[in-house]
Amino acid sequence: MGRQFEPVWAHSFKFLPKYAQILDLIHGGDCMKRIFAAVLGLALLTSIVPATAASKAQNEWATTHKIVYVGLTPKDQPNFWTENETDTTTATSDGAMLAFAKETVANTIAFWKQNSRGKMKFATSKFFIGKAGTATERCDSSADVKAAMKIAGLKSVPIGTHIVVVNVYDTCGYAGLGAFGGNSVNLRSFGTTTLIHELGHNFGYYHSSAMYCKNSDFKKFNATNCSVDEYGDFRDLMGNDEWCPDTTLSATQRATIFHTPLAKSVKIGAELTLDVSNMSTDRIIYEFGYKGNWYFFEYYVPSVNRCMSFSSILYAPQIQVRMIGPAWTVAKGNSVGPILIVRSDSDLPTSVVNVDPEMLPRDLTLTGFLEGESFQLPGAPYTLTVKSTGSTSAVFTLAKN
Ligand SMILES: [Zn+2]
Repeated sequence: MGRQFEPVWAHSFKFLPKYAQILDLIHGGDCMKRIFAAVLGLALLTSIVPATAASKAQNEWATTHKIVYVGLTPKDQPNFWTENETDTTTATSDGAMLAFAKETVANTIAFWKQNSRGKMKFATSKFFIGKAGTATERCDSSADVKAAMKIAGLKSVPIGTHIVVVNVYDTCGYAGLGAFGGNSVNLRSFGTTTLIHELGHNFGYYHSSAMYCKNSDFKKFNATNCSVDEYGDFRDLMGNDEWCPDTTLSATQRATIFHTPLAKSVKIGAELTLDVSNMSTDRIIYEFGYKGNWYFFEYYVPSVNRCMSFSSILYAPQIQVRMIGPAWTVAKGNSVGPILIVRSDSDLPTSVVNVDPEMLPRDLTLTGFLEGESFQLPGAPYTLTVKSTGSTSAVFTLAKN
């Protein structure tokens, strides 16, 4: 239960370029959707603490996490993990693939330590290599996990331990598979991004999503007028950002799952200061709840922490609004998490969107709200006004209509 299918995060997949072009999104079934809806419904009542017992246990700061990494080995490539690249002048004990795998685990642990602000603890990781023939062509994640446990000598998986099993011959068509609050990860693509992302599911994270309503009109806020892109938040690895050293999670994701930082409550009518959402300040996120919907405000300055290469983002300081709820947004995807509100600049007057005419083509996606803008929250009679956007902080108000 609770299994989640994944796209291939091809960019970090250095060693097996033949898979690099696979970009298929295979979504989980209705079972997944129902589980998610139940979890989210409960979560909203309890300050968005993950509601399942398993995810709670995996999320307690007292839990020391441990990665037990098992590489299954193809029958026809018995040295898959142990072979060293030719013409290496320095002798290494690990083969190139195993060394790469160890590097991805180290990067992944560094990422999650950073994004929990050092609260998450990890024990020393363990690595095991299965004998030739253990990586078989099949789509059977639980059989691969069982094989991995046997290879690692584990009869059961203790709380905090995450079995990561790599089967490069997996035929399911996804790059990785994690489980909400779970304790195993299946990988076919064993790059860093995939591992970070799948472990994120084990830690209770859903996808960083985005939402667009026709003509950028969020007053018509319903399932027919609006669409949800499950992976659409460009900002982080639970969405669709590229891997790079500075990649973080959105403050909203961190606040809703790790409570680092704690979101501050919006005081209606007051001028509120938001700092750029980096790791060094707590004044980076505000939350506002209205009739089961939750709204999150954070400040994003592209030049400071921009960490992706595609051009559909307006390059301007902006207050981003993410929301959780209503139910129909969740129904648009199998594991929709916080949803970033996006608009198309072609829907808006040029007085609002002052785009450089040389910056063609137009029709950019706006991922936030610019200085001087007002925006009525979808699903709530409250208006956001962006008063100012400075180099490190912005001022906004939320007022009742
Ligand atoms: Zn995922």
